[in-house]
Amino acid sequence: MNLDKLKPISAADVKGKRVIVRADLNVPFKDGKVTDTSRLARLVPGLKDLSARGAKVIVMSHFGRPKERNPKDSLKPVADTLASLAGMPIAFADDCVGEVAANAIAALPDGGIVVLENTRFHTGEEVNRPRLVEAMAALGDIYVNDAFSAAHRAHASTEGLAHLLPAYAGPLMMEEINALKSALEVPKRPTAAIVGGAKVSTKIPVLENLLAKVDKLIIGGGMANTFLQAQGVNVGKSLSEPDFHKTALEIIAKAKATGREIVLPVDGVVATEFKAGATSQVVDVNAVPADAMILDFGPKSIAHLAQVIDACRTVLWNGPLGAFEIAPFGEGTFALARQVAAMSKAGRLVSVAGGGDTVAALNAAGVAADFTYVSTAGGAFLEWLEGRELPGVAALAR
Ligand code: AMP
Repeated sequence: MNLDKLKPISAADVKGKRVIVRADLNVPFKDGKVTDTSRLARLVPGLKDLSARGAKVIVMSHFGRPKERNPKDSLKPVADTLASLAGMPIAFADDCVGEVAANAIAALPDGGIVVLENTRFHTGEEVNRPRLVEAMAALGDIYVNDAFSAAHRAHASTEGLAHLLPAYAGPLMMEEINALKSALEVPKRPTAAIVGGAKVSTKIPVLENLLAKVDKLIIGGGMANTFLQAQGVNVGKSLSEPDFHKTALEIIAKAKATGREIVLPVDGVVATEFKAGATSQVVDVNAVPADAMILDFGPKSIAHLAQVIDACRTVLWNGPLGAFEIAPFGEGTFALARQVAAMSKAGRLVSVAGGGDTVAALNAAGVAADFTYVSTAGGAFLEWLEGRELPGVAALAR
């Protein structure tokens, strides 16, 4: 895949054309209402730009995981929320293919926008069935993929369509790819990756791929316990995965052989109970009481990390350093977040962070806006960190 082959829709002539935009309208939703509109708000400028340039804008998306058509998973209320955020009327069609969709599109003036019903109401979507792809393609002249977060799936609307219509990348897709490129492919050095979270087992490909690309690999969270334990440290009752000692030792050996630095905590905040307000203490990792769990980086580790990060020019971050959701075990994560944010704001660091828990931690620290880029893409972000080719991106970069 050659990312230089991506064609941004901003450079295309769209006047009077029917432009199918694969967006990600899969937003948090409860009791008939969108509970977090941030993803929709980010989509609005790109849609309005197409509208202002005279396109007939046809928005397609999945929503939830329906196995068949059902009112609970209709995109209609999401389309209404999108319209109020955009401050302009947005039509809705009760199906993403066929006569209903075609009629709604035929009724659009140049500059008009329509949202089509949930693509997953058709079983062909997730299996990328050619008949469904053809029916979708019949509705448009141009295809734009602006849903990086769904690009790890080879579905009809995320991958298949790119083969049948002139295919472009939308502005959010470009933004995400440029951020990941600047952190991983052409970074300012030295570079660090911070990989935290609960388990090593879910992030082995991420660790292996990043180790080959960055200068420093900072390992936090429950994963750090497995790395410490593999080297003979007694981590008490900490979350750890003894089955992955061998993997951890292999990663450490590979880092040594290739001149990469692995950074692990030297002290931790420990407690015997995993609950808010639990009595906690700071101990060196070599002195963890048998009945205690390491739940956060301690002050010495945070100070060391601050030095490591201070010397870096690029940081990529996925996964918290500790159990940040429960006070006081978020302090390590929050301190690191504040430092990365301040250095980014001062123009000293390119910082790219992603993953659900990481974004939640940055928001809890109140510093997400100061990062260079924060990805909300979840699975697609992780697969990119694993070095995998995302089918939705590959189909655009042919
Ligand atoms: P992940 O989904 O793998 O990124 O893991 C995120 C979760 O890991 C968060 O819910 C954290 O609370 C949890 N976590 C981080 N550090 C620890 C730790 N030392 N012990 C237990 N859980 C942790």
